[in-house]
Amino acid sequence: MEKYDVIVVGAGTAGCLAAKTTAEAGLKVCLMERKKSKEIGEKICGDAFGEHHLRTIGLEKPQGNELERRIEGIKIYSPDLETVFTVRSEDYVGYMLNRRLFGQWLLKKALDEGAVLLDSAQCQEPIIEKGFVTGVLAKNLKTGENVRLMAKVIVDASGFLAVVRRKLPKEMGIENKVANGDVEACYREIRQLKREAENAEYCEIYLNQKVTPGGYTWIFPKGGAKVNAGLGVSMRGKFPNPKNQLYEHVLTKPIFDGSLLLSGGAWYDPTRKPLDTMVGNGVAILGDAAFLANPIHGGGIGPSMLSGYLSGKTIVEALERGDVSQGSLWPYNCKYMKLYGTKQAGLDVFRMLLLTCRDEDLNYGMKYGLMTEEDVLKAGAGGDLHIKVTDAARRAFRGLRRIRFLNKLRLTANMMKQVKAHYKNYPEDPGNFERWRLKTDALFKEARSKLIE
Ligand SMILES: Cc1cc2nc3c(=O)[nH]c(=O)nc-3n(C[C@H](O)[C@H](O)[C@H](O)COP(=O)(O)OP(=O)(O)OC[C@H]3O[C@@H](n4cnc5c(N)ncnc54)[C@H](O)[C@@H]3O)c2cc1C
Repeated sequence: MEKYDVIVVGAGTAGCLAAKTTAEAGLKVCLMERKKSKEIGEKICGDAFGEHHLRTIGLEKPQGNELERRIEGIKIYSPDLETVFTVRSEDYVGYMLNRRLFGQWLLKKALDEGAVLLDSAQCQEPIIEKGFVTGVLAKNLKTGENVRLMAKVIVDASGFLAVVRRKLPKEMGIENKVANGDVEACYREIRQLKREAENAEYCEIYLNQKVTPGGYTWIFPKGGAKVNAGLGVSMRGKFPNPKNQLYEHVLTKPIFDGSLLLSGGAWYDPTRKPLDTMVGNGVAILGDAAFLANPIHGGGIGPSMLSGYLSGKTIVEALERGDVSQGSLWPYNCKYMKLYGTKQAGLDVFRMLLLTCRDEDLNYGMKYGLMTEEDVLKAGAGGDLHIKVTDAARRAFRGLRRIRFLNKLRLTANMMKQVKAHYKNYPEDPGNFERWRLKTDALFKEARSKLIE
């Protein structure tokens, strides 16, 4: 039976980076993917990608057709369309990707370093021996044959499906399930417009709780007159069908008159804080499988690549020590929380506020400058949330009988600060983890009870 140092399940953005990082250190790596090799990279996605993510992990910019268009920033529209925030900064400069070509570019990087691709292979479940994950059972989709593959470390990079994580034993201490309310159901189409949209260097985001409760609509310009248009809705309680919402409320806009459907599809985006621990004995969880997308805008390509890179480095060091226990893999948790997880946890609190916001609150909040473009920038980059309650805003909200909302805003800013301070103390020693986790649970329970329930 073939034994690897590392088996990476899923050749998405997270998996390719983990396979590349471990293979370039000379490890024997198997990259297992249920899709056929040529389809790797295809994903139901908004295709927007911030350039700074490449810098963080030391990757050069792709030079071919992987990047379809450069984006200068984001325009955010209030529900009544009266206020538009134009958010422009280095952090929001990015690209619209050709998702398949970008995925193929990352795959090639992993294979060039010596990782072996096992495509058309569907992982079914992890193999657990003496409290360690030691392999996976998989099905060869070409022959129907069942295979058993063993490795010193198994990496779950299988995206939202999280085929390994969902089947880990409870004792491993890694959450198996995700609450529906922490997931966005999305539907998106790539459409050819009759003519190129105005402001094609900006991604557009539309807030509207009636159309997209707990989510938003996006219209992102791709190359030429193509756009990626879609929306996400929170799966909290009873929620509308995202495809119906797109057809009823978005594709009815004049810019879509006479447009041609090129492709469409639905998928899920987890939008919450990261898993409290992303490692167990012999296992590391990455990308969407570990809930690493940004809780506010759902962008997960950058963080998934970061998790592939950081976990890969940690696995190499653990194997050099000959120790793949949870404690030895722990630095992956610490590094991720420091670089992105802390910001993500803070934004998860902000998401709770947005879930229960009314359209009037958003309209008036944006109009009267409770939050400005600059505040959005700062909050998006992981800074604190600054609320400026001007006299005009106070009068407007009093008129709406929504002073409670202003109080909720202040409470949110305060809870975000507390949560971020707590995450900055993520335990370097797994022995202190249980105490940290109990405090995390208490903080999020308090935030939920004050902001959502
Ligand atoms: C509609 C939508 C729009 C989005 N828009 C954006 C955006 O504009 N920008 C952005 O940054 N992020 C966006 N995201 C989020 C982003 O797509 C994800 O966060 C990111 O792709 C996660 O990467 P990943 O490698 O963890 O998972 P994935 O990209 O999902 O990759 C997982 C891989 O595992 C494979 N796999 C699954 N099960 C198995 C199995 N049993 N055996 C073997 N292989 C398996 C899959 O085929 C896939 O190739 C969006 C998400 C959605 C749903």
